[in-house]
Amino acid sequence: MTNLADLNIFNVKIATPAGKTPSRSLKVFEGAISIKDGKIISLTQALPARYEMDGKGMFALPGFVDAHTHIPFVGQRSKEFILRAEGKSYEELLKNGGGIYSTVNLVRKASVEDLVQSAQKHARWLLKAGVTTFECKSGYGLNKKDEIKQLKAIKELSSKIPQNVVATFLGAHAVPPQGEKAYLLELKETLKFVKEEELAEFVDVFCDEGAFSIEFSYELLRYSKELGFKVRAHAEELSGNGFAAMASQIGAVSVDHLLKIKENEIPVLAANKTMAVLMPATSFFLKTDYAPARKLLDNGVYVALGSDFNPGSNTFYSPFFIIHLAVNHLKMSVEEAISAYTLNSAYVLGMSDKVGSIEVGKQADIILLDIPSLDHIPYLPTEETLKIVFKNGRKVFENKDNISW
Ligand SMILES: [Zn+2]
Repeated sequence: MTNLADLNIFNVKIATPAGKTPSRSLKVFEGAISIKDGKIISLTQALPARYEMDGKGMFALPGFVDAHTHIPFVGQRSKEFILRAEGKSYEELLKNGGGIYSTVNLVRKASVEDLVQSAQKHARWLLKAGVTTFECKSGYGLNKKDEIKQLKAIKELSSKIPQNVVATFLGAHAVPPQGEKAYLLELKETLKFVKEEELAEFVDVFCDEGAFSIEFSYELLRYSKELGFKVRAHAEELSGNGFAAMASQIGAVSVDHLLKIKENEIPVLAANKTMAVLMPATSFFLKTDYAPARKLLDNGVYVALGSDFNPGSNTFYSPFFIIHLAVNHLKMSVEEAISAYTLNSAYVLGMSDKVGSIEVGKQADIILLDIPSLDHIPYLPTEETLKIVFKNGRKVFENKDNISW
């Protein structure tokens, strides 16, 4: 009796990258997924199970993994969006109460509970779009007390939602009034506390024009590594300052954005196996250039995709739309884009041994899509094709299409 699987999903077309390291291609095959204790135990034959489910020939993909979000935050910046749409300058946006500091002010006033509540809503949106694992960052506190508050909210969030959550400390998101030098000392103190309390696994820095300098960013990441953190960087979104290669050389797991990366940096990323995390929804939202994904991929760099979901520079969070942008604007193949949003993003988050593919031994994080071919994900990028989401083998969302007319 104990040999019974908990659930058997038969009659599905499985489309998945394979292994624990980054991928560019998918295996596609007809099969049945047997699940026990939240994990996949067989794909080749339908094992006897307590519950049987007919997959009706739908595509089964691994749950999406969002490698880069700015959850948790409170408030919204729609006014800033409209002003930008009207062509107003950045200075005018700031004058009208826009910019990152408007979110910082709201987050500083918010309680942990406020942040968790807002993040839970966003986690539900992500779940209904097939995201079963995602990254959360601090970065709207910009002082010890409020950065820690955000990290505590992330911890609490993860106990309240079905998804896996990975926490990143982004205390260096915007330069506070005391300036870089004084802030670096404060951040180093905060980092020790974050490490002791195990509040984050990663440290991130926004190194760019109008944000932190190369010198500051290098020292922050170096020190973070010394403390035992894994490090990442927001690099070369606005200016080609060469920080992507520098971060790669000190062992950054990923460098994110890369719109302005220079050609001579690309071999450095490839040699160090640093992942490029690309977020085309931010380019779309801000009407800027797109990252040179093709150049990166064709020169041996592995790419992961993320949303960059945040209240200021991008409010799109759906992997369906972002895969559309990846195929249409980043010129990625459908298989590259799906790998980038599943196994490769899981790899960035240090979770590719558990999630990111449909394979025996991994968590049963599976989404069922009613589509005739994988091309339909970018071609018709609506979540309406997403019918069922399983997290650890448990059905956590079903699109029942319960309209009555
Ligand atoms: Zn970001």
